[in-house]
Amino acid sequence: MTTDTADPLALFLGVAAFAAEKHRMQRRRDVEASPYINHPIALANVLKNEGGISDPIVLCAALLHDTIEDTETTYEELRREFGPEIADVVAEVTDDTSLKKEARKRAQVERAHLKSPRAKLVKLADKICNLRDMVDRPPADWSLGRKQEYFDWAKAVVDGLRGAHGTLERLFDEAYARRPR
Ligand code: NDP
Ligand code: ZN
Repeated sequence: MTTDTADPLALFLGVAAFAAEKHRMQRRRDVEASPYINHPIALANVLKNEGGISDPIVLCAALLHDTIEDTETTYEELRREFGPEIADVVAEVTDDTSLKKEARKRAQVERAHLKSPRAKLVKLADKICNLRDMVDRPPADWSLGRKQEYFDWAKAVVDGLRGAHGTLERLFDEAYARRPR
């Protein structure tokens, strides 16, 4: 597998194939149970085609952002396959699974400002895409109140990373403006 950022398209496609394979058995929580890989691809698409971000490390980390958290993938595996820069960004956006859910969610809010610039971009794209999904293809069986809580938590995380990227923050605010009511 190439780790060569001098050929970013080869790297990106290698990463896309890897992420698709890792997420192949997973589905999103919407009624149609969309393929999970749609979500990491959506992040990369937002970053490049709405945010204007061309950094291949960021775009590859976006494709891989849920692999450690939600599949059997390890940090060492990502480092071996794609190099330390990509693996480190993915690790930064991975929750500490030793914490309980409430503590994990609190940690995201409290630690957002500590993230590297690249990790902040991936986080912003993740929250943009999840808020859009929450409106356009919402999780089956979530109450209005639970969706509203999710919007407010996502905003608390993003408020901790403001200053990272004006365009992405505006896109987040536009997504937040559709908060269910
Ligand atoms: P989760 O983190 O469990 O679920 C949201 C995550 O699901 C997203 O961050 C996203 O993560 C993923 N996801 C998968 N499919 C979709 C989709 N179609 N649209 C959007 N996101 C999707 O959320 P919580 O269970 O923690 O709930 C959020 C809030 O609700 C919390 O504040 C919690 O306290 C509260 N809550 C309320 C309950 C209630 O009944 N009122 C019950 C439980 C919690 P990824 O990017 O990783 O795929
Ligand atoms: Zn995600």
